[in-house]
Amino acid sequence: MDRLSVVLPAYNEELMVGKACRVVGKILAEAGISYELVVVDDGSKDRTWDEIVKAGKKDPCVLGVHFSRNFGKEAAVFAGLAQATGNVVAVMDCDLQHPPQTLLKMYRLWQEGYEVIEGVKSDRGKEGFLHKKCAGFFYDIMTRATKIDMKNASDFKMMDRKAVDSLLSMPERNMFFRATSSWVGFKTASVEFEVQEREAGQSKWSAWSLIKYAFTNIVAFTTVPLQFITVAGLICFLCSLVLIIYSLVQYFTGHAVEGYTTIILVLLLIGSAVMISLGIIGYYIAKIYEEVKHRPRYIISRIVRGGQDEYGQINHDRKRGTYL
Ligand code: UDP
Ligand code: MG
Repeated sequence: MDRLSVVLPAYNEELMVGKACRVVGKILAEAGISYELVVVDDGSKDRTWDEIVKAGKKDPCVLGVHFSRNFGKEAAVFAGLAQATGNVVAVMDCDLQHPPQTLLKMYRLWQEGYEVIEGVKSDRGKEGFLHKKCAGFFYDIMTRATKIDMKNASDFKMMDRKAVDSLLSMPERNMFFRATSSWVGFKTASVEFEVQEREAGQSKWSAWSLIKYAFTNIVAFTTVPLQFITVAGLICFLCSLVLIIYSLVQYFTGHAVEGYTTIILVLLLIGSAVMISLGIIGYYIAKIYEEVKHRPRYIISRIVRGGQDEYGQINHDRKRGTYL
């Protein structure tokens, strides 16, 4: 018997999480799909967890997972995938910005034999001008890095158990779900959807957290910034060749004393190039350090299914996202 697990990461979503469970549950039940809702509370500071427990008491198909603190959306998605038991798993935001009706379309494609079904934004919803430009720039880099068109990619996806297991078996702690789920390959289809307005609560991303997110994911997917350093080095070398020739000519024609400004400029330029390069290398080293520590991806502090405590029945590795 086929079963669809829907993973819903939730951070401070007390206003939305109950409704999301109700709406998604109703749509799937009406379509006659056997389902499970895996709601991951990413260490919320409001009443989100109470709402999840309440939703579980009404609908036994709700599995609530509670993190010991906020580990971020990627970790929450990963934990949801790890706890999901269905043979097909969907991931969607719990603010209902991803229209739940689209799940039915995705499910039909899965029945037709597709193994990864991507939700693609038909437009990016309401976003400020600067936000749009920055997001565009970020996705340009990511598209090049992953060689997968990421322009309108989203975290709204449905995946066959095979694809989920291949994601779960990846050792890296720093997982960019949106790109990695395409990277694993498999028979892929995409479904367009319109980003809905957020009904209640507010976006959990600040400009700063988005910038950090962008850098982390670029570094997780490509080493091109390291090659920039080589290119910058080459450019510096070519410039110095010109300067060397110029200085020699000056020396032999007897105008050598001038050129103090040139020296200062060259020193400053090369100094900053070296420091920026060290910074880029340092950033990669920091990421390597984080991976090497092998800290758990997340720590689960509570699990309830249908409002009943299930913490004792989950094995230790599942509680921490450390499988390897
Ligand atoms: N989210 C999360 N942990 C976080 C930030 C966000 O689990 O640290 C969840 C959030 O509850 C929502 C989804 O990720 O279900 C998308 O977040 P949001 O709606 O704030 O992002 P936006 O739609 O503005 O991109
Ligand atoms: Mg949202």
